[in-house]
Amino acid sequence: MSAILAIEDLVKCFGGLVATDRVSLEVREGEIHALIGPNGAGKSTLINQLCGELAPDSGTIRLAGRDVTRVPTPARVALGLGRTFQITSLLDDMSVRENVGMAVQVRLGHNFRIFDAVRDRRAVWQEADRLIADSALAPRAGVRVADLSHGEKKQLELVVALAMKPRLLLLDEPMAGLGHVESLAMIEMLRRTRESAAMLLVEHDMDAVFALADRISVLVYGKIIATGTVDEIRDDPAVREAYLGA
Ligand code: ADP
Ligand code: MG
Repeated sequence: MSAILAIEDLVKCFGGLVATDRVSLEVREGEIHALIGPNGAGKSTLINQLCGELAPDSGTIRLAGRDVTRVPTPARVALGLGRTFQITSLLDDMSVRENVGMAVQVRLGHNFRIFDAVRDRRAVWQEADRLIADSALAPRAGVRVADLSHGEKKQLELVVALAMKPRLLLLDEPMAGLGHVESLAMIEMLRRTRESAAMLLVEHDMDAVFALADRISVLVYGKIIATGTVDEIRDDPAVREAYLGA
């Protein structure tokens, strides 16, 4: 199976602290690859290097076969990289549908080509409506973001990310702060998302990880200590000791 993301020997230090310690990891096409590990393990630091927000000290990052280690974020996005941002990136005074429609327009470059925008407006809204219909937000399309629950905002973040048609989605703790029912809705949505995008999923909620992941990598003090299927990771004594606490 081919890899949409291939990380090799990545290193990132903050002063004397080795936050990313020769990390190698692959996310295959169609795969949900979970990245787990205790607080301070270096998960967010790794995600930030994949996005291009932080420059690695050494090692390589390949996206869709291209070396993007020194490539700026927009070029990575053009190659198919997507991520969920903080909820603050949503437009509070606008509806769910307007937020998704904006994201579709941004992808099509319509901000800068007003004539295309007019010509293709119907297509933009059709696509926005299709994305919303595929989500748990269908009954909430006309609701302002300000009036959504926390869980609904997290779902909208994901729909907005999907509007960019990513081939690889980076998700940093999508379950954080969700109640039980909202978590189940998010799990269901990520499961359906797998058909269109591979995912690197950083998540503490182990029920969600075990429900979703094809493979899991375990990061401890900046190092990957194990990569395997759910069963392999659950039964790995080193992982249990370092992370699962059993
Ligand atoms: P995680 O997301 O797994 O909880 P982080 O990637 O946020 O871990 O942090 C990994 C380590 O790197 C921690 O010890 C953290 O304090 C340190 N760290 C993260 N960002 C910086 C930074 N910008 N400058 C210095 N140290 C940092
Ligand atoms: Mg983190």
